Order: sequence, then C-alpha cells, then structure tokens
Amino acid sequence: MIIDAHAHMMTANMFKGVTGVKPRNVPQKMLESLQHSVEDNTKTWLEAMDRLDIEKTVFMSTVSLNDEFASFINSSSRFVGFARMNPTLPDAVDILKKELKLGMKGVKLYATSGEFNVGAKEAWPFYEYCEKNSIPITIHFGVTIGPTADLYLGNPIHISRVLSEFPDIRFSIAHFGAGFFREALMLKYKRENLYIESSGTNNWLLHQDNFLTLKDVFRKSIDVFGVQHILFGTDTRIFPDGYREHILKQQQDILKELKLNEGEIEDIMYNNANRFLSG
Ligand SMILES: [Zn+2]
Repeated sequence: MIIDAHAHMMTANMFKGVTGVKPRNVPQKMLESLQHSVEDNTKTWLEAMDRLDIEKTVFMSTVSLNDEFASFINSSSRFVGFARMNPTLPDAVDILKKELKLGMKGVKLYATSGEFNVGAKEAWPFYEYCEKNSIPITIHFGVTIGPTADLYLGNPIHISRVLSEFPDIRFSIAHFGAGFFREALMLKYKRENLYIESSGTNNWLLHQDNFLTLKDVFRKSIDVFGVQHILFGTDTRIFPDGYREHILKQQQDILKELKLNEGEIEDIMYNNANRFLSG
C-alpha cells in the first residue's frame, strides 16, 4: 500500500483565487486542467489510486477556504486535505479553525511564494495552535513555479527557531527542499519531528553546484533523516497528464537499488505518512 503525501487538485473556480497570476503567464496545459469538475476529479483520482494501490492521497490546496476544494476532499475518505495558509495573519488561527471545519487535516505553507516569513514571531500563535491540536504542516521552500515566488523567503533556515520552540509539531519539507537540500539536512540536527518529502520532478537538481542524482539525495536523506522520516509523494495534478506514474516508478526503483528491505520501503511509501498525518 502507498500514501501519496503530496498532490494537487484545482478547478477553474479555485484558480480564480490564486493571487498574482497574470492570464498571459498561464500555460496552456494548466488552462486545460481547469476544465474539469469536482466530480471528474474524484472519479479520475479514485480510478488511478485503485489501479496503483494508493490507499490515500494528500492534496495541497492552492487557495484558502474554498468550497470546491472542500467538497472534493470530502468526496472520499481516501482524500486528505491540507489548507493553504498565511500563518502570520492576525486572524490565522480563526482561518485555520474554519479550514478544519471544512474538513482539512493539515496545513501547507508556501514559504517561497506566500509573501511571508515562516519564522516570523507573528506566526507563533498559529504554531502554538497547531502544536496543541496536532496539526501537521508541510512547507514548500526553494524553487517553485509560483508567480510570486521570492527565494529570499524560501530558505528552510527560517523555520529553525520554530522547530525548537514547537518541538511537537510534525513538519515536512516538500520536494527535498527544492534546492535547499543542504539546509534541510542541517535543520534535521536533533529534530525528531522533522520529515522530508520526495515529491515532484526534482528538477531543482539541475540548479545545484554539485552532481547529486536523485538516488544520492535519497541515500543522504536516509543517512540524515532516517527511513522513518522520509515521505513519498508525486506532486500529481491529474488533468491533463494523468497520475505521475513515472515518478512513483522512479522512486520505487531507487529504493530497491539502495537495497532497502521491504519494511523500510513500506515506511517511506506508507507508514511514515500515516504517522505524519495522525501523530
Ligand atoms: Zn505541489
């Protein structure tokens, strides 16, 4: 069994709520992907998940408090929703409470493109609430296609102090830090509840000043994070290209090449995500 810890679903209605996007910058494929209803998405996702033995998928919302996203998440017990949040807003806790009411089970912070600093003191009441209520948080640091991206805010080091102040929050760094792999590894120093997640094309590797391959990245993550703190994900948006099976296959092959035993592979593909989600 598999849990995909990072995927997306977006409708035209949701897309309207994404800030900073100029219509001329929207790729054709994205426009195509938005032509599908919530029902289309539910059906197509469940078909893919059945076929590939994926028990659950975690969906990262790209907008906040969206009814269509909520109705999608609530259309199957196999879908898990993460709310897009700005933790530094004065009413962040209230917004989060509303998101939880809509059925969200965790939070996604877009550090690089959210125009806030994840380490800012203004965000601490929000973290306090997450810690008390056992809400997991996934953060996208590093490079991103997001239109308002600012790499200055995308360094995982910003979360360093938060990790020590709120040691019980389960944090996950998406896409192996998307270019800030070194910083993600440093952050793990004596941090029990920090996870790293494998989703996406990992094309950030091209922009590194070293010659790491994805296999090296997995090997090093296993050394530093341990097999119990790595989450598998694909970053699939199912329309128009379908489930990213090539990423699933590539990562499964790497784990086998690294000679992990079955139990260790199951940790990365399934057990860790369960622990990350529910504590
Ligand atoms: Zn994503």
